[in-house]
Amino acid sequence: MARRLSRLAELDVGELKGVGSKRAAMSKVGIDTVLDLITHYPRRYIDRSRQVEIASLAPADEALVVAKVRSSSLRRARTGKMLVEVVVGDDSGRMKVTFFNQAWRAKQLREGTEAAFFGKVELFRGSRQMTNPVVDLVGNRTGRIIPLYPQSEKEGLTTWDKAGWVEEALERAGVLLDPLPDEWRERLELIGRDKAFHDIHTPATMEDTRPAHRRLAFDELFRLQMTLVLRKRALERESKGIRHVVEGDLVPRFHAALPFQLTGDQRKAIDEIAADLAGPHPMHRLLQGEVGSGKTVVAATALLVGVQGGHQGALMAPTEVLAEQHYLGLRELFRDLSVPDPTTLMGDRPLVVELLTNRTGAADRARLHAGLVDGKVDLLIGTHALLTEGVEFASLGVIVIDEQHRFGVEQRAALRGKGDDPDVLVMTATPIPRTAAMTVYGDLDVTVIREMPPGRRPPKTVWLPGPLEEETAWKKVRDEVATGSQAYVVCPLVEESEKIQARSAEEEFIRLKSDVFPGLRLDLLHGRMPAKDKEKVMAAFRAGQLDVLVATTVIEVGVDVPDASVMVIESADRFGIAQLHQLRGRVGRKGQASWCYLLSEETEGEASERLDALVKNSDGFELAEIDLELRGEGTILGVRQKGRTDLKLASLRRDRDLVARAREVAFAIVDSDPLLAGHPDLAEEIRSLVEPDEAEFLFKS
Ligand code: ADP
Ligand code: MG
Repeated sequence: MARRLSRLAELDVGELKGVGSKRAAMSKVGIDTVLDLITHYPRRYIDRSRQVEIASLAPADEALVVAKVRSSSLRRARTGKMLVEVVVGDDSGRMKVTFFNQAWRAKQLREGTEAAFFGKVELFRGSRQMTNPVVDLVGNRTGRIIPLYPQSEKEGLTTWDKAGWVEEALERAGVLLDPLPDEWRERLELIGRDKAFHDIHTPATMEDTRPAHRRLAFDELFRLQMTLVLRKRALERESKGIRHVVEGDLVPRFHAALPFQLTGDQRKAIDEIAADLAGPHPMHRLLQGEVGSGKTVVAATALLVGVQGGHQGALMAPTEVLAEQHYLGLRELFRDLSVPDPTTLMGDRPLVVELLTNRTGAADRARLHAGLVDGKVDLLIGTHALLTEGVEFASLGVIVIDEQHRFGVEQRAALRGKGDDPDVLVMTATPIPRTAAMTVYGDLDVTVIREMPPGRRPPKTVWLPGPLEEETAWKKVRDEVATGSQAYVVCPLVEESEKIQARSAEEEFIRLKSDVFPGLRLDLLHGRMPAKDKEKVMAAFRAGQLDVLVATTVIEVGVDVPDASVMVIESADRFGIAQLHQLRGRVGRKGQASWCYLLSEETEGEASERLDALVKNSDGFELAEIDLELRGEGTILGVRQKGRTDLKLASLRRDRDLVARAREVAFAIVDSDPLLAGHPDLAEEIRSLVEPDEAEFLFKS
C-alpha cells in the first residue's frame, strides 16, 4: 500500500541507521521526523558527467569545480584579516582558492580533502583563482549526480550524512501516495509524487530534477491554497450574511454629486463590491490601491449601500489622525445626502456620520452609544475605540477597515461580532504582488485599483549620494516654502528603540532649525510625543502655520496635507521600498509638481538597488514586484504563514504560474466536493497540516 506523507511525519529520524548520535544535531536544524528529512531538499547538484576541468575555466565564469586540496595555509593579511589560501587540483591543473575571515577553512580543507568549489573564476598573474567560493565537501559519494544539501557545519552534519539518510528514508518508506487526482496531474503536466521525491534527491540526470522541483513546489502551494480555499468556503457556509439593496437611490445621488468622474478602476471596484454586497454571503474583500488612488470613494460607496438598505456602517482606522481625516472627508462627501425617516415631517433626515476615538468625551460617548442602538447614527468612523464594549449597533451591515495590516485578526473579528455577519472591506495602500496576495490573503477576494485619478503627478524622485549634494534638497525646500508650499523632512530610522529614535529626531530637528533653515517655521513630530502634542503639531502643519515638518515615520500612515510639495528623506537606505514609496506619496496631493529627495551615501549593494528602483519607478505594484525580487518572500509570508505550510521549494517569484494554477485547482476541487468526501487522501493530508480545531471547522458541513 502506498504511504501517506502524514505517516512519515510520525516517524522519528532517529529510527534511521547511522543517525544515532547526530539525532540532537538534526533537531537543531529543524529535522525531527522522516517527513522533515525528505523535505529537506538539495540546494544544488554536482553533475559529474559535466564537471568542468580547471584547465578549461575561463575568467569571469561562474563555475563549479570538484577538486582535491593539495596544500593549505593560514596567515594574517596586511589589512589584519585572516587569510586562508588553498591550492586545489584535478587531473587537468591547479587553482588557488582564497578565503578572507574564514580561518576555520584551514581545518575544513586539509590536504587530500575532495570538495566542490562554486564561485567566480578570476585570472591573477596568469593563474586561475577563486575568492570566497561556496564550498561543499563531497566525501566519497559515487553516482553521476551528487545532491548537495545545505551544510550545517556547526552541528557537524555533512551533506553526505544527509544524502545517505534521505536515501535510506526513501527506500524504507516504500511508494509514496499521490493525493492529487490523476485528472489534474495530467492537465498540469506534473509528474507523480513518488517519482518527484526520488528525482529531487537521487536524480539519474540533471534534467530529472526540473519536473521533480515543479511537482514538489506545486504541492507546497497547493496545500496552502487548499487550506485557504476551504477556510473561505467554510466561512461562507457558516454565515448567513445580508443581501444588501444595491438598487437604491442613495448611491447614485452620491456619485452624481462628486466633483469628478470615477476612474475605470474605481468603477470596477465598486461593481465587484456591489456584487458581493448583493450576494447571500458576507463579503471578505481586500481593496488594494496606492495612496491617492481614490479608495475613499469606493469605501464610501460600500458604506452607503449598507445605509441604503436600512443598515449602519463602520469604518475603523489605525490612528486618531487617520480616523479624524476619514471623518472629515466622509462628512464632506455626504453633506447633502439624506435617508428616509418616517418620523419626520418631510419623511427624511440628513445622513448622520459620527466620530469615536479615545478622545471622545463621556457625554458625547453616551449620546453616540444611544444613537447607534436606536439607529439614528448611520455611519460610525473611529479607531480601536469602536471595539469597546458600550458600542452596539441597531444593525451593522458594512464594515470598512483601513490599513488592515495594522489590525490583528482578533480585532477584525471583534468588529465583525458587533453585527450579524456584516460585509467586510479591508483596505491597504501597500501594494503587494499578485502571487503574494493570493498566498497571504488567499482567503479574501482581492480588488486592485491601479489607475490613479487624472492629474496626479508622481513626485520627481532624486537620489543625492553625498553631503555636498544635500544642499540641493535644502535649497528646494527653501524655494518651495517661498512660494507658500510646505515640506517634510523624514529623520533617519533608528531601529534600537523608540526612545533613541526620538532623541535622534530631536537632535536633527535642532540642527535643521539653527543651521539649515534659520528663519523658517519648523516643528517636530515623533512617536514618543504625547498624543495631544502630536495632534497640535499636525494641526499647525495642516493649517499652514508651519513651513517644515521634521518627523519620524509617524507620518507614513495617511497624513494628508495638500500644500506639501517637497519631502527629504535622510538615510533613505535604512527604509524599505514600500515604506519609501508610502512616504513620498505624502507630497503633491493636489496634483502640483512635487519632489522627493533621498539622502544616502550607500551607492553599492542591495540598498542602492532599492533607491535606484524608487528613482526609476512610480508604480507601487511594479515596486512591490522589485521588492519581492530583492528581498525574497520570507518577509511577506512571515507574518501569516508558519509551520508546516512553509514554502521550502516554491518561490512566489519563480513559480508565479504555479501559484495561480494551485489556486485554480483548489477552487475546482473544493467547489465540486466541499468536504472532500470523494478525496479522502487529500482530506487527510490537509487535516494533518492544520490544527485540530481548524480541521473541524474546515470540514464541518
Ligand atoms: P486613497 O484613500 O486611496 O489614498 P483618496 O480616496 O483619499 O485616496 O483620494 C485621493 C484624492 O483624489 C482625494 O482628494 C479625492 O477626492 C481625489 N479623487 C478620488 N477619485 C478621483 C477621481 N476619480 N478623479 C479625480 N480625483 C479623485
Ligand atoms: Mg485614504
